[in-house]
Amino acid sequence: MSDFRGQVTLDGPSGTGKSSVARDVARRLDAAYLDTGAMYRAATVAVLDAGVGLDDKVAVARAVADAKIEIGTDAATEVVTVDGVDVAERIRGAEVTRAVSPVSAVPAVRRLLVARQRELVAEADAVVVEGRDIGTVVLPDATLKIYLTAAPEVRARRRAGQLGVTDPGKIAALASDMRRRDEYDSRRADSPLRPAADAVVLDSTDLDREAVVDRVVELARSTVAGRA
Ligand code: C5P
Repeated sequence: MSDFRGQVTLDGPSGTGKSSVARDVARRLDAAYLDTGAMYRAATVAVLDAGVGLDDKVAVARAVADAKIEIGTDAATEVVTVDGVDVAERIRGAEVTRAVSPVSAVPAVRRLLVARQRELVAEADAVVVEGRDIGTVVLPDATLKIYLTAAPEVRARRRAGQLGVTDPGKIAALASDMRRRDEYDSRRADSPLRPAADAVVLDSTDLDREAVVDRVVELARSTVAGRA
């Protein structure tokens, strides 16, 4: 059992190992876990299935508002459904990955999903939330904010490893896709990807996952102890 109470936010670009770190930290702290990227990906499924153009912001927002998106908050199991259909696998596919940044840049989409994220967080005594804007926008008063980074080559290699890709040409293509998405996420007007002023920036280039998890758990415990 852990006596951690509060919210840990974990923001950063893709390929830093954020999701696996966030899940492990949630397990170690006996906390709920919320993957907000999975929510934007599920919203993207709703948009693709509605057949609306990604440039039509009004139609994109309507498709998201009309869909019933459900997301689990248990670190041990991934539950993501859109209108009752399990989309946990589909949201990781290339079609959704290509479309998710433009969908998540639409302010009305963010308003809907941020409201839902705050509701889910309010239901938990202890929670780890990962995304891009959690420390800056969604939970500005979080107990502990982490911004996870890593060198671009390392991030591309890790992503390739997760997907089982070994061909150098394909790894280079993955790296350029990742760069494009990060640039899009960092340059958008609404809630761009950036560290909160009070975030602890952790560079995982030379750290393995276990070391990053240990550091975050230690910071979470010491932050709570410092406040008691
Ligand atoms: O973390 P993941 O790669 O699943 O996120 C997919 C996309 O969802 C990101 O590239 C970003 O466009 C969007 N996203 C966001 N805000 C968040 C989480 C994800 O805009 N809090």
